[in-house]
Amino acid sequence: FNTSSTFNEFTPPITDETKLKARLLANENPYGPPPLAAKAFQDEVFTGNRYGWETLKTLIEMIAKKEGVTPENILMAPGSSDILEKVAMVFFQKGGDVISADPSYMSLINVSKSVGGQWKSYKLLKDSQHDLKSMEAAIDVDTKLVYICNPNNPTGSITNAKDLKAFCSRASEKVPVFVDEAYIDLSDNGLTDSMVDLVAQGKDVMVARTFSKIHGMAGLRIGYLVAQPETLERINAITRGGMGITGPSIMAATTSLQGKEFLDMSKTKIAEARQYTKAFLDKKGLPYLPSQTNFIIFEIPTDGKAFLKEMYSKGIGVKAFNFWDKNWCRVSIGTMDEMKLFTEALDQVI
Ligand code: PLP
Repeated sequence: FNTSSTFNEFTPPITDETKLKARLLANENPYGPPPLAAKAFQDEVFTGNRYGWETLKTLIEMIAKKEGVTPENILMAPGSSDILEKVAMVFFQKGGDVISADPSYMSLINVSKSVGGQWKSYKLLKDSQHDLKSMEAAIDVDTKLVYICNPNNPTGSITNAKDLKAFCSRASEKVPVFVDEAYIDLSDNGLTDSMVDLVAQGKDVMVARTFSKIHGMAGLRIGYLVAQPETLERINAITRGGMGITGPSIMAATTSLQGKEFLDMSKTKIAEARQYTKAFLDKKGLPYLPSQTNFIIFEIPTDGKAFLKEMYSKGIGVKAFNFWDKNWCRVSIGTMDEMKLFTEALDQVI
């Protein structure tokens, strides 16, 4: 297997991010938060003297109903990052291996490594899907957890839901399987599918979701984990689930879950701007991986650090990575106007 040395994220040049003309670096939703959710947030500020346990209970019930599980299967948190980090701390406090794709989202993996875990990574297949066969074969006595990000970050690619479900079903008989579905609502209908029904079937599968992406609430910090009650107990033993979420965020999430219009609008506009960006990359002859998300990763023929410096100097914030011995730029999908600024800048830099 590979080690983390194959995966490198370039640090951006120090600059004031608020001064960027287009902020396309954190896979945020440019349209959020939904207006009604923002209003609910504002209104709730006035009850800020109280803890939000009652409103949280209502939100948990809504989420449980939506996901087809019971409230005992839900753990709320201030963003899914909090869940990724806590799970890593709980599962890797005595070391052990975490199996994931190469490349993948590093939050859980980095915390696992920092508390004594070891990363075993398996390169995505040629079609950018997870190498489920190798990952399954790699599970042994040292494996503490398998981490799957679907759709995957930073590649934007998806793994076939049917194959993934079969994999999760089998693998979870041996070790817990964590599926990070931060971007699932952005993928084309029917192309991918949540693994949450495996939790309802009693499998040792954990599914993380967030309000940061399609709901446009990255700064309001709210997300959740769907898992077996015994797993949530293990996590709650070292950290009290829900304690980090503010009352206004709870009301914003509750309101956003009740509407569909904003989510549909976001998805449609993001898909349009993604299409525009792909067409530009095609024209430039820059190879990119198949994206089903609000970001695209493409190969750059230059050093990542130098590339970032040039893009930032033009007011365009993106990310740059090195993996598979290649340099890459990951651009988040903003509004059409932002994507035009991005393509103009890119045209000058490459
Ligand atoms: N998981 C993935 C795959 C992500 O890309 C991100 C953020 O970009 C997160 C989780 C964390 O998001 P949040 O903590 O805002 O829920």
